[in-house]
Amino acid sequence: MNNLKILLKMATDKKVLKSLLETYHLLKDDPNFTLIKYMKMMQGILKGEKLVAHEDVYILSTFFPPFPTEAFIQNIIAVDAPIEIFTKQIYAKRTAPISMYLCVTNKCPNNCVYCSAAQRQSEQELTTEEWIKLLEDLQNMHIPIIGLTGGEPMIREDIYELLKAIDDRSVVILFTSGFNLTYERAQMLKSSGLFGIGISLDSHDKTIHNRNRNDDRAFDYALDALKNASKAGIYTMAQTVILKDQVDEESLFKLFRLAYKNGAHEVKILEPILSGNLLAEEDASKILYSTDDRKKLIAIQHKANKRNDMPKITSFAYTESEAKFGCGAGNQHSYISASGELYPCDFVPMRFGNVKDRPISELWLEMNQNIGIPKTKCFAQEVNRKVFIASDGILPLAKSDSVEICMKHRSERFPKYYRDLQK
Ligand code: SF4
Repeated sequence: MNNLKILLKMATDKKVLKSLLETYHLLKDDPNFTLIKYMKMMQGILKGEKLVAHEDVYILSTFFPPFPTEAFIQNIIAVDAPIEIFTKQIYAKRTAPISMYLCVTNKCPNNCVYCSAAQRQSEQELTTEEWIKLLEDLQNMHIPIIGLTGGEPMIREDIYELLKAIDDRSVVILFTSGFNLTYERAQMLKSSGLFGIGISLDSHDKTIHNRNRNDDRAFDYALDALKNASKAGIYTMAQTVILKDQVDEESLFKLFRLAYKNGAHEVKILEPILSGNLLAEEDASKILYSTDDRKKLIAIQHKANKRNDMPKITSFAYTESEAKFGCGAGNQHSYISASGELYPCDFVPMRFGNVKDRPISELWLEMNQNIGIPKTKCFAQEVNRKVFIASDGILPLAKSDSVEICMKHRSERFPKYYRDLQK
């Protein structure tokens, strides 16, 4: 279905109209708020995106929780001044990130070339009770998207218990290699409250995927997992790390079609990031994208999003670009390691305190004050070499050094989504 058809469907959906009205009431008393700006905000969210209807909700952008949901409302109210919600939002002065990803285990049956969990296998992981307490705290901060990642989260026997501990103030997305995802398990995930799943699929070519994942069974796991998750009613994303030499329309379109044929509603493209095993490489320029690689990828994404025989395509390269929302590390997005350490992002191993020592709401605000506003470039690509050197390779970096690097890399210029609303 194209965007126009979905917009027409939304226009006649009573739940959509009710939620639009609720959102309007939350924002209307802010002196900076106008109806035109409200429309601009929606336009900014939708720009370059393919709209997707899934069950009774709509995915405007994977950066935001689906609409209309309680999680969407939670995202709006995650500021400290109810009368100035709109102003706080457009200056990114939040009291919580939009998404918090939790590394619920470092254990994994694979050994991917770009994995950031590879160096943390020996950490003492949080217990089930500690995770459940943390989930409650995160929801009380109004965090609308909770990601469960790893390692391989499907290794945890208590994964269903963790999901059941999260109420509808947040949507949950689970990131998996597809390991062990039978149809029965997918149904259990769905009935435990899972909204979305990101399943690793790096290429249409089985050999490439298995080589990236260092596992000969990974490709078959992934395709079965896509089918099983989709059949169970979970919003299903094929998550793919596209290497520099694979940014090619023909092979990407093959990947998009393969994912679609196997049930994916979306293909989410990540680019290689200077993290994990890559930090040990002396020259990573053969692996990292250039500006032209990114432009080429975004053009392929937008072309694919106009077609009806492919799923929604999203990419970090576009969503986190200067032209859209920018880099969310420590502002729109954050990450908690298996041992409870707060990081600005999954890919930025800077230590900002442990959830076992201080409330997460305090730790996050302190980190956010050091990081500042969303950045116009990927923070990981910009600082990770420095982080690796300053830590002598023993990650994560100590807090005092982390603060020092953050202060030197604060951004002054907002990404375009914000600039347009500030005018
Ligand atoms: S540091 Fe890079 S990967 Fe992390 S949020 Fe920013 S743009 Fe995304």
